[in-house]
Amino acid sequence: MLYLSTRGHTDRRHFCEILLEGLAPDGGLYLPERYPQVDSITLAKWRGLPYHALAFEILSLYIDDIPPADLRAICRKTYTEEVFGTPAIVPLKKLEGPSTSSGRTAAGSGQTAVYLEALSNGPTLAFKDMAMQLLGNLFEYELARRGEELNILGATSGDTGSAAEYAMRGKKGVRVFMTSPRGRMSPFQQAQMFSLQDANIHNIAIEGVFDDCQDIVKAVSNDLAFKREYRIGTVNSINWARLVAQVVYYFAGYFQATDPSTGSGQADKVSFAVPSGNFGNICAGHVARMMGLPIAQLVLATNENDVLDEFFRTGVYRVRASADTHETSSPSMDISKASNFERFVFDLLERDAGKLNQLFGEALSRDGRFDLSGDAAFENIRTRYGFISGKSTHGDRLATIRDTWERFGTMIDTHTADGLKVARQFVQPGVPMVVLETALPIKFAATIVEALGREPDRPAKFAGIEALPKRVTVLPADVERVKAFVAAQCG
Ligand SMILES: *Cc1c(COP(=O)(O)O)cnc(C)c1O
Repeated sequence: MLYLSTRGHTDRRHFCEILLEGLAPDGGLYLPERYPQVDSITLAKWRGLPYHALAFEILSLYIDDIPPADLRAICRKTYTEEVFGTPAIVPLKKLEGPSTSSGRTAAGSGQTAVYLEALSNGPTLAFKDMAMQLLGNLFEYELARRGEELNILGATSGDTGSAAEYAMRGKKGVRVFMTSPRGRMSPFQQAQMFSLQDANIHNIAIEGVFDDCQDIVKAVSNDLAFKREYRIGTVNSINWARLVAQVVYYFAGYFQATDPSTGSGQADKVSFAVPSGNFGNICAGHVARMMGLPIAQLVLATNENDVLDEFFRTGVYRVRASADTHETSSPSMDISKASNFERFVFDLLERDAGKLNQLFGEALSRDGRFDLSGDAAFENIRTRYGFISGKSTHGDRLATIRDTWERFGTMIDTHTADGLKVARQFVQPGVPMVVLETALPIKFAATIVEALGREPDRPAKFAGIEALPKRVTVLPADVERVKAFVAAQCG
């Protein structure tokens, strides 16, 4: 399988050539030349595979430059019960709908089943672990093979940074330098990151806000000499390896929701609802659907930062200014533009790189917006691609968290609440709706207390982490000081 750029760059690359890279040389995003097709016979064969074996089957369709035995070993080592808490790795939990096992019908009988798919039982309790844990093992493998080192520099306001650190800790050939705005993450998130004592993990608390951290990372990446000398890389959500790792749990969710013994056995299609920010998670759903997985609808949920909901409703994509980006109680969805969105638009435009350049290369930088409402392609969004969208607010989150707790005894986090709220608007009779649970409530305790008047349960392994010794360096929002720090650790 070869990869091309959404902006039309003519080079074609193999998987491991793009693994350690961010954007393509022309500023586009990498996509496979075509989506491998999975028919019903293959689906039947894959049903019942353990998660790591399913991951191998799917990844091997996209990776032709790692020997199969090695790739299989990487998948097996990544997706373990020890790391992800259950043998199923991404277990489904039925919230409502007919009960099948007992023959009796549960409350809400006759309703279509609504499930939560747990993607947040990994080391940092958010779905980013699903892909990042694989990335850590792929990086270690590829760097060893090349005899190279990599210094990952990133900026985080929470979930991404901790997922990256827990994926890369102790990995040979990799150092992580993670900047975060000093004192602005929740105490739990700070404890998660700063308590890591691994020698290759470096926390840098910047005296500033998240934008300062991002600006520093950008400035360092634009210093090509420094970048080359110190082998600076990133692990942000545009990385294709992260995206393809996420495709696996759409298949795993589908198999469980259509399992005759436990799920809604008679259903032949499933819909997914996805709390969305940078469009990485739901883009993996799009890829799964393009491969032939029977997905009826891909329901995109935003919070008050509704740049994507606006596009899917109106065809207008309008990037927000920082000042118009709201700080919400589902902070991992607080985005001003969606960095993976270009991948979907490329497919929507029948992979016309010229047209894509006009939109993302020209119109966005000139006007900060583009409008596809008059384009024939826009008609295809619902019909051919299955996308539909909705928005959820702070009040919706509180109400959904409360309702889910009272009716089902299940505590959900704020992002998952956005997904569930929007999912309910689009449930179709007989089509199971799987809502992706993207984080556990303990990460966003303040809003849980606001909704339920009680603290969320804390998994045992996180008891008392706020009291652990912290390993963090405080630096001013100054690019040169950050560069000097990186250089000193590499010396
Ligand atoms: C990152 C994140 C999201 C948004 O995912 P995207 O891939 O950026 O759309 C949603 N919920 C949580 C908890 C996250 O950490």
